[in-house]
Amino acid sequence: MALLEIENLHVSYGSVEVLHGISLHVDEGEIVTLLGANGAGKSTTLLSISRLVNPREGRITFDGKNLLDYESYQVVGLGVAQSPEGRRVFGTMTVQENLMLGAFQVHSETIKQNTLEWIFQLFPRLLERRSQMAGGGEQQMLAMGRALMAQPRLLLLDEPSLGLAPLLVKSIFRTIRRISEQGVTVLLVEQNARAALKLASRGYVLEVGNVVMEDTAKGLLANPRVQKAYLGG
Ligand code: ATP
Repeated sequence: MALLEIENLHVSYGSVEVLHGISLHVDEGEIVTLLGANGAGKSTTLLSISRLVNPREGRITFDGKNLLDYESYQVVGLGVAQSPEGRRVFGTMTVQENLMLGAFQVHSETIKQNTLEWIFQLFPRLLERRSQMAGGGEQQMLAMGRALMAQPRLLLLDEPSLGLAPLLVKSIFRTIRRISEQGVTVLLVEQNARAALKLASRGYVLEVGNVVMEDTAKGLLANPRVQKAYLGG
């Protein structure tokens, strides 16, 4: 059984349908990537899983549970955490305070401290800046770290490399690999299709609200249509 299964998902904003019945699945331990142009519906897919937008039709099953029966904060408790596009960290709070927000469902102080140490190992820069106000170049890591504070089984990453300098992009992709090796399943939305496909085991291509391709990451990398549309020729 898949850890996450989306079936026939339809989502509208007002009267405009932007997801037209997409289906996809993510197995435990996988990194799966969702590729597509701006506006294809990638963020909407992640927001639907997190229950931040309400689908009109379809099913989203996580670990056998129908997520549409749960509120967004409960979805975090079930083991799904999202690192949102645009980072959304709180600039009036320190790095460590922002991280702690992610653990709002974790009640044991020992577990919180251990998770915090794990995140500081993954992102040493956050350790250096733990007492500084959040902002600047580490916002993306902070958003990822905050999601990881919930100790998710499934991590939803929306454009983790967006706006980062090339060296930081490499470092973020290496860190996603480490997170995956430590047992967290990852659904990754990325504009940087080549890097995402090098990291992922499988991928889906979304075009104007439909899944138009699904294959192994190797298959997608070798696919002339994917090369032309998403890999710069
Ligand atoms: P991007 O990389 O630009 O975020 P995306 O593939 O993640 O693209 P979505 O953000 O899911 O795409 O957007 C899908 C469609 O829904 C787009 O046409 C977008 O304009 C529209 N849309 C997104 N959010 C809203 C909203 N809150 N209200 C109305 N329309 C929206």
